[in-house]
Amino acid sequence: QADIALYAAKEAGRNQLFFFDPLLQAETIERALLVRDLRQALEQDELVLFYQPIVDAQQHIRAVEALLRWFHPKHGMVLPGKFIPLAERNGLIVPIGKWVLETACAQLAEWQQDPEREALVIAVNISARQLSKTNFVDTVKSVLAQTGARADRLMLEITESIFQDNVNSTITKMDALRQEGVRFSLDDFGTGYSSLTYLKRLPIDHLKIDKSFVDDIFEDSSDIAIVHTIIALAKNLEIDIIAEGVETCEQMEWLQGNGCKFFQGYLFSHPLHPDKLNAILENTTLLPTKELRSSCD
Ligand code: C2E
Ligand code: MG
Ligand code: MG
Ligand code: MG
Repeated sequence: QADIALYAAKEAGRNQLFFFDPLLQAETIERALLVRDLRQALEQDELVLFYQPIVDAQQHIRAVEALLRWFHPKHGMVLPGKFIPLAERNGLIVPIGKWVLETACAQLAEWQQDPEREALVIAVNISARQLSKTNFVDTVKSVLAQTGARADRLMLEITESIFQDNVNSTITKMDALRQEGVRFSLDDFGTGYSSLTYLKRLPIDHLKIDKSFVDDIFEDSSDIAIVHTIIALAKNLEIDIIAEGVETCEQMEWLQGNGCKFFQGYLFSHPLHPDKLNAILENTTLLPTKELRSSCD
């Protein structure tokens, strides 16, 4: 018990010893236990990379986003919202993120053997903490070399949180990877540190409108204005837009009518286990949702 409390205290970020505090929040202990388990999750093969399709207006799968799932021996499936922030805080995101890159690139290399699938792109989420590592560029390059994946099929998703770091060194790294063919998208756009001035400087190819705006396009007139502004801005900068969290035909139609080219959301598909995705791709790169098309007509 005291062990756990000590552990919890460390994880809580207090770099000092302290005596067992019976009032220590149960939540803090639970989080500490989760971190303890997460340290072993990689070795014990408990992490699985799911993939969520990103489709074009014809509902052809053009890319997939890699989304991490942790199958915990006791708690079952744990979503990234529960463990990624912990991993970011204690640095575990670096080895975990490397595993994600390796796994995604191995999948790309496999698809490249098949002319039907070789054009598919995988988008991989990159935490600011990973990008801030001085060897980030080399890590990505060596994973590409080792797996044999084509750099131009890899898309890295970064968020506005990178603006808290040295933007110039971030841009230098992005440029180095873009030289290799790697593409970048800016994730969750509109939710974070406002970055309209940086947006112009950032070498990005795609911009993902956050789900919170997509949710509100029929509810909130200021969100409609924001979405219009984002789309206009992206057009000017010649950046393609991906809409996140599309759940209804109405949203899809509105977004498409207003210049959005790519879509991701439960309307098309949930994130899928790789076996399930590959079974779908086996037959076609079109999602098997005929009902969807007719219901959206
Ligand atoms: P994100 O990158 O913005 O990913 C999109 C999230 O929205 C995913 O949640 C996805 O399952 C969810 N989503 C997609 N379509 C819909 C929809 O129509 N409705 C709703 N309600 N949700 C939808 P998920 O998988 O729980 O991941 C959450 C976040 O965790 C991600 O947000 C990303 O920031 C982070 N994450 C996931 N995998 C990784 C990873 O491998 N590395 C890093 N650094 N972060 C990751
Ligand atoms: Mg993402
Ligand atoms: Mg996102
Ligand atoms: Mg999001």
